[in-house]
Amino acid sequence: MTKKMNVESFNLDHTQVKAPYVRLVSVIEGPHGDKIHKYDVRFCQPNQQHMEMPALHSMEHMLAEFIRNHMDGVIDVGPMGCQTGFYLTLLNHDDYLEVLSALEATLQDVLTATEVPAANETQCGWAASHSLAGAQALAREMLDRRAEWNQVFA
Ligand code: ZN
Repeated sequence: MTKKMNVESFNLDHTQVKAPYVRLVSVIEGPHGDKIHKYDVRFCQPNQQHMEMPALHSMEHMLAEFIRNHMDGVIDVGPMGCQTGFYLTLLNHDDYLEVLSALEATLQDVLTATEVPAANETQCGWAASHSLAGAQALAREMLDRRAEWNQVFA
């Protein structure tokens, strides 16, 4: 690899991972002992597949909204600019298997959703760019490979 960079994922060899997977990126401890756990929730194999923006955008809305019904301490769910996955950031939550379970339950919610939450011009910055069906197809693919989520590298 090239020189060590500031961003953890820039030091990850994206040719060696095997999507889909859920990877603990980092644990940052604050001065008062609180810990921030950041996860790489990878839907697509880097440089081989990617999510289309409307589906990714709808998935982002639903992950962000629904996962909070399944776990506490969610700080943020954010899409990767490469359109291959999401970052999930949690406060004081270090149980990896519980993260997987919460994600599974959240994707089940995506499958049964009848609309994308907050997909309107009041609550979203590009309300026209959504696809419920696209997000549900992504959820189905991800759930079909649930057994692989804990395996990050090929
Ligand atoms: Zn939006």
